[in-house]
Amino acid sequence: MGIALIWCLALILIKWITSKRRGAISYDSSDQTALYIRMLGDVRVRSRAGFETERRGSHPYIDFRIFHSNSEIEVSVSARNVRRLLSFQRYLRSSRFFRGITVPNSSNILDDDYNGQAKCMLEKVGNWNFDIFLFDRLTNGNSLVSLTFHLFNLHGLIEHFQLDTMKLRRFLVMVQEDYHSQNPYHNAVHAADVTQAMHCYLKEPKLSKSLTPWDVLLSLIAAATHDLDHPGVNQPFLIKTNHYLATLYKNTSVLENHHWRSAVGLLRESGLFAHMSLENRQLMESQIGDLILATDISQQNEYLSMFRSHLDRGDLCLENANHRHFILQMALKCADICNPCRTWELSKQWSEKVTEEFFHQGDIEKKYHLGVSPLCDRQTETIANIQIGFMTYLVEPLFGEWARFSNTRLSQTMLGHLGLNKASWKGVQREQSGSGDDVDPAFEEMDSDILPQEPRLS
Ligand SMILES: [Zn+2]
Repeated sequence: MGIALIWCLALILIKWITSKRRGAISYDSSDQTALYIRMLGDVRVRSRAGFETERRGSHPYIDFRIFHSNSEIEVSVSARNVRRLLSFQRYLRSSRFFRGITVPNSSNILDDDYNGQAKCMLEKVGNWNFDIFLFDRLTNGNSLVSLTFHLFNLHGLIEHFQLDTMKLRRFLVMVQEDYHSQNPYHNAVHAADVTQAMHCYLKEPKLSKSLTPWDVLLSLIAAATHDLDHPGVNQPFLIKTNHYLATLYKNTSVLENHHWRSAVGLLRESGLFAHMSLENRQLMESQIGDLILATDISQQNEYLSMFRSHLDRGDLCLENANHRHFILQMALKCADICNPCRTWELSKQWSEKVTEEFFHQGDIEKKYHLGVSPLCDRQTETIANIQIGFMTYLVEPLFGEWARFSNTRLSQTMLGHLGLNKASWKGVQREQSGSGDDVDPAFEEMDSDILPQEPRLS
């Protein structure tokens, strides 16, 4: 066989493998489950002149035709279109592999010393001061995989559910990879942080004595996957750019639905629970959905008033599975927005990261004349204003009720940090503006359509 022929065959093989990888992408329109819907992680925006390339980032696919016409173009989301846009993250990885480009963080080889320190940290995984940023560095960017695997083991889930550890690790690696590392905030480190916080709440006496292994399993999976494939922009942005996911989910909990459906896709792909009955797997998928959808902060008022009513009536009975699952929804909500309840050193870093993500969105909105979303304008907003509003209107009410439910040392610690951090931001605000009472007006209107998506730290 001539070299040319071999080369030709090799090319065909590579093409077949990559197309097979992409061909594996499917979208089940009957239950909206993306067997591998992925947001477009690359910025290839379509202009009149075709695709233009910008720096790689975490933007979702944006159809720029709508910005160049006077009237909005109806963007169709036929199954075919959807398929074409799916799994870009995964596609990029295989494409990089075939081009011989190594991806940073892909190596799991670490210095023994680092491994030792990471292991040491895991011994204190239930500590509220756990430094997830340090842990992420020590694990070479694999905090979500390492931490969640450890927690599965710690809670005895591997043994109880007879899990194949190879499948579990593969599932967790896929989860971690489907977070966009380019997002300043909504990345795998945030997911690891939420999972660690969830673990702390699961250990709280009221919960730990009544939770079943099933509850713990769902809670950890939901925490680890709750922002899966987050594009780094919020729901209003997806709606105003006619993103196909906004259409797919009818402009309602667009991101949360996508996180959930992506998680279901990975669960199915990994075969982690293939040994369970179909009925149990379906129950698991739906209950994970209930947990993830609860993190839609636009629904916070509804959850909070329900929580308040239960606490006022004193009728929460954790023997009741429905009540337990409601409390797990509240726990995941707390875990998701617990940044201001961490120590100042950790909390401040999160505040900076989330603001960077907001401002990045604002920059795109400015560039394409989309109208800058509240809290996203770096010219008029400050971290301090955003944080004070966020704490006042969202975090304090939620954690106040949580402390009523679970009045423990941890709850008091969290409220303590919250108070101190707010005072620190007020100090910064005073220095910047000369007055300390500015609350971002975007938070004052607790309108579910405006507020929740913008300050969303989920
Ligand atoms: Zn989140």
